[in-house]
Amino acid sequence: MSRVNLLGLLPSELEDLAVELGASRYRGRQLATWIYRKSVFDLEAMTDLPKDFRQELAERAVVEVPELEREMPSADGSRKLVFALNGASRISSVLMPDDERITLCVSTQVGCGFACGFCLTGVMGLERNLTAGEIVSQVLVSNRLLEKESRRVTHIVFMGMGEPLANYAAVVKALRILTDAKLGVAYPPRRITVSTVGLVPGIDKLGREDLKVNLAISLHATTDEVRSRLMPVNRSFDLAALLAAVKRYPLASRQRVFFEYVMLEDVNDALDDAQRLVRLLRGVKAKVNLIPFNDWEGARFRRPPLARILAFQSVLLDAGITTTVRWSKGEDIGAACGQLREPLAVASASDS
Ligand code: SF4
Repeated sequence: MSRVNLLGLLPSELEDLAVELGASRYRGRQLATWIYRKSVFDLEAMTDLPKDFRQELAERAVVEVPELEREMPSADGSRKLVFALNGASRISSVLMPDDERITLCVSTQVGCGFACGFCLTGVMGLERNLTAGEIVSQVLVSNRLLEKESRRVTHIVFMGMGEPLANYAAVVKALRILTDAKLGVAYPPRRITVSTVGLVPGIDKLGREDLKVNLAISLHATTDEVRSRLMPVNRSFDLAALLAAVKRYPLASRQRVFFEYVMLEDVNDALDDAQRLVRLLRGVKAKVNLIPFNDWEGARFRRPPLARILAFQSVLLDAGITTTVRWSKGEDIGAACGQLREPLAVASASDS
């Protein structure tokens, strides 16, 4: 019988398991505290649990954490963390410090099946979805790493490898564990952002979950023609359908939807695009992040000159839309936006 992984169960499921093993729900709450609050993964180290309960547990369950195989520091202070999953797959997370804030970009799938033309992860294709445990582990392991520096991840963005809403159930479960203030990892939902290429049914569903996390949309174009060329998903959910779903997404009074816009020379960086973007975002509480394209070998695109990026930004700012130019971190270590790719097989590993 395969043993269940405790890391990835909701606190309520840990309580149920404790009862199944003949113990009280309180023992389940203790388990949740050890795993999610203290990042302790060794059952033997959970010293306030009775010995016979720990033995029962060890027969039925494990606490399985992806192995942190490599830590790749960038000259700009960010770090790519490469995890080996059971089997032969690898994923990466990126830690991005910025003064007091430390943002962790987590992956939700091994590879990605959406094939956005400017993204190296898309070139890999989809290998598999991550489990809720594998998603939460990226946060817990990062926090253990930062503990040595007396720091902690402060913000989490679901923008690494994969499309979060294509792995909906595991992502929502991970969000519940991460935001559970009593027995989970206790992140305020406002510090978590889920990014999507625009899966309309997923956006609607997420809005109904009462999770109150931030929503980010990978927009990247202002016409259906260009967007469909860059992002095949636009053929299923076009700009009109996407913007309508964004307008339905429930926002708290000071919350805004983030729009990610990768800037590609002569593709989507014209002033006409900027003006169209202003019109598209009318009636949306929006913040736009312009991301100058991060090059990778074999890419068909180029980064526009700085003056062009700033002119584009000015049009949005003049229209009253908060717009920042986001210089990606970790470009030198293949950790910047759209650059994440790990070899699929550990055995044949060569750096990407
Ligand atoms: S941008 Fe996101 S959705 Fe598109 S291919 Fe890359 S990882 Fe997948």
